[in-house]
Parts: sequence; structure tokens; C-alpha cells
Amino acid sequence: MKKMALHWKIMIGMLLGIIWAILSGYYGWNDFTADWINPFGVIFINCLKFIAIPLVLFSIISGVVGMGNPKQLGRIGGKTLLMYLFTTVISVSLGLFIVNTFQPGVQSNDATRLEHRLEYEVWAVDNGIEIKDGRLEMANASDSQLKDIRVKLAADSETTAAKVVLSKQENAKEAKKGPLQPLIDMVPTNLVNALSSGNLMLQVIFFALFFGIALALMPSEKTSTVKKFFEGMNDIFIKMVHMVMRGAPFFVFCLMAGVLAKSADNLTELGEIFVSLGFYALLVVLGLSTLLFGLYPLILRVFGVKIGYRAFFTGMSPAQFLAFSTSSSAATLPVTIECVNENLKIPEQSSDFVLPIGATVNMDGTSLYQAIAVIFLAQYHDVDLSLIQQLGIVLTTTLASIGAAAVPSAGLITLMIVLSSVGLNPMWVVLIFPVDRILDMCRTVINVTSDATVSAVIAKSEKMM
Ligand code: ASP
Repeated sequence: MKKMALHWKIMIGMLLGIIWAILSGYYGWNDFTADWINPFGVIFINCLKFIAIPLVLFSIISGVVGMGNPKQLGRIGGKTLLMYLFTTVISVSLGLFIVNTFQPGVQSNDATRLEHRLEYEVWAVDNGIEIKDGRLEMANASDSQLKDIRVKLAADSETTAAKVVLSKQENAKEAKKGPLQPLIDMVPTNLVNALSSGNLMLQVIFFALFFGIALALMPSEKTSTVKKFFEGMNDIFIKMVHMVMRGAPFFVFCLMAGVLAKSADNLTELGEIFVSLGFYALLVVLGLSTLLFGLYPLILRVFGVKIGYRAFFTGMSPAQFLAFSTSSSAATLPVTIECVNENLKIPEQSSDFVLPIGATVNMDGTSLYQAIAVIFLAQYHDVDLSLIQQLGIVLTTTLASIGAAAVPSAGLITLMIVLSSVGLNPMWVVLIFPVDRILDMCRTVINVTSDATVSAVIAKSEKMM
């Protein structure tokens, strides 16, 4: 008998989790769910989290080294990276535009909105994060609804009020930060510190790029063992992601059951989460479709590549279907190269150089999705992000999509980094988990198509076609 594909199993796990959460709420099994089912979901997230840092480190180092000697990268290398950056920034901006226009995360119910907001503030205080316009003090008001929320939160964190006061005093003492502070924050003072703290991923990326370039610049007799080591380590961590993902159907069941049973004790609230989630997922798909059917054909036209609309999509379809079913641009790479060479008639000189780099660093679908997801989660918790913070998201998302490995769920892992970088709770990814697998399948199609588009543009500009 043919084995069932992983994504179907995950979907079944998800559905069973939802059913369990509903039954659990209905029959009052929430304590059992919290004690005996939810922990496995937490373990799953923890595994993904601890894999994240080494995975980013090794994949960037081996990616940079894979490009060869930076001196010889020359014109084609520069152009390729520029094109990749260009498409990624357009994708993030499109994502930000869509999510700010349609606001899928904004809750219509005032009480729910306030409750989510206060949950965020408690977390922020616990993690020493400064928040503007904190609403925790409002919880002292006589309003009975606010009082209820305060009692609930006080149970979660007895010392919250004291911490708010303390952190306020500390913040007041803190020196004013200059405009270049984010740049300063990107450079680690202590490597071990950067690697051990989950919130300093930009420093890890900085180090990995720097290290990779230095390694690539050294004569190969000296570095061949080191290069092999990093490539091997990269493969091992990717393997670990695969292994964790094998258990995903079960873990997803636990996550769904635990999270839903905890965060939604009644069915109306359960309904609210799903309405928001559905809207969010729809917007991600809308953005991805705009890239797929609008941006890429447009880029081909603007750069004078003579491949027709239909010819492009029929030629790329085998790679796109594979990307959809595997959720991995790396696994799809051999087929992408074949489609580009055989069907689009782009010579190997371009495809063999451009596509493998693209599979690692160019993820338009992932970056568009991350931009929408971060703002959606912020809206859901009633957190307003300023223009500066949103510009910061363009930068972090671009870097995070470069750092994401071309494997299933990599985008979800690096999303935690983007969330932390703007002072939001990385655990919120749990909320969008239910729809993430299907969105992963869709965004991988875009990631692969974007690589092919850029390889066509490079071939055209180098007069290879
Ligand atoms: N699965 C995607 C890819 O391989 C990465 C992601 O999770 O967004 O391209």
C-alpha cells in the first residue's frame, strides 16, 4: 500500500487536534489537555527553536562558501545578489502593504483585544521589553471587565505589577539610543553570547556572513577540511529538521489541542481565531499569487526575456508541483534546474550558478509571508508597530529569508527571529501554526519560481540566450 504523504498526515493531526479542543472545552477536559497533551506541543516548538540558531549559522556559512571565491564572483555574482535582493524587498513591501490595508488581525471585540494586549504586556515585562502606551496600569481601574482581566493575569504572574514599575524605572534610566543603534546591535561583542541568546539572530547572521567570506577568501589547501565540516554540519541540522517533521502529525495534534483548549475556553472565541486565521491565510495566498502571476512575468518582460506567459508556466510547472508537495526548494532544486534548462531553454552557465544560490538565499514567498504574519500577530495582540519598526521588518525579514534553509517550515522557524527582533513574543507562531503547512507549500512554489525568473534575467543580460 502506498504511504500517505506527510502533509496529509499533518492535516489529519490538525483536524483531530481541533476536534479534541472542542470536545475538551465541551466536556471540561481542559486540565487534562493542559497537563498531558499540551507539553508535547511545547516540546515540538522547543526542538524547532534550538535547531534554528545552528541551522542559520551553518546554512549561511556553507551558502557563502558555496559561491566560491568572492573575488571571482565578479559581475554575475553581484547582479544575481542584487536581483535577489530586489525581488525580496518588493515581496516584503507587498506583504506589508496587503496586511496594513486589510488588517486581518484586528479584533472586533474590545474585551478580546484588551485581553490579548495585556497578555502581551505581561510577557513583555517578564522579558524586560520596553513597551510604549502600556495598558497594564489601566487594569487598576474600577471597570469590572478590566478587574476580571487583572485577576486572571495576576494569577499568571503575581509579581507583574511590581515588575511594571521596576521596568519603567529602569527604562527611564536608560540612555537615549541613537538612530544607528540597530546597526550597532547587529554586531556581536561576544560570539558565544550571540549564539546562546535566542534573541540575537541578526548577530549570528552577521557573524556567519563575515566568517563565510573570510573562509572563501582563504587558499583552499588550508580550508578544505573546514569547508567540508560546515557543509556536513549544515546537512546534519537539515536532517534534524526532517526528523522532527516526521513526528509533526502527532505534535501538531498536541499543539492544536493544547493551544486551542487553553486560549479559547468557549466556542465563540474558537470561532474568532479561525475567522482571523482564515482571513490571514487568504491574504498570504493573495500576495503570493500577485508575485507568481504578476511580478515574475512582468520582470521577464521588463528585462526583455523572450519567454511567453504560457510557456513560462507550462515550462516551470513540474518544478512548481514538486515544490508544492515537498515544501522544500532544496529538494526541488534538481527539477528546477532541469525545467529551466530543458523547457525555458536557459543555458547551464546561468542556471547552475544562479539556482543553487537562489534556493538558499532567495525566498520571496517566505519573506512576503513573514511580513504578513508578523503584522497579523501584532494586530491580533493590539500592538501598533511604528513606521520605523515596519522598516526594520523589511530588513529583518529580508535577512531571515536569506537565513532560512530551503526545507519545510524553515520560514516558520526564522519567523520567530523576526518577531523577537521587533520585541514581540516568538511563541506567537503557535497561533498561525494551524495554517502554516499549507502556506509553506504555496510559498515554496513562489520561492522556486523566483529563482527561475532571476536565472532567465541573468542569462539574458549576459547575452547567453
Ligand atoms: N519551505 C520553504 C522552502 O523550502 C521555506 C519556508 O519555510 O518558507 O523554500
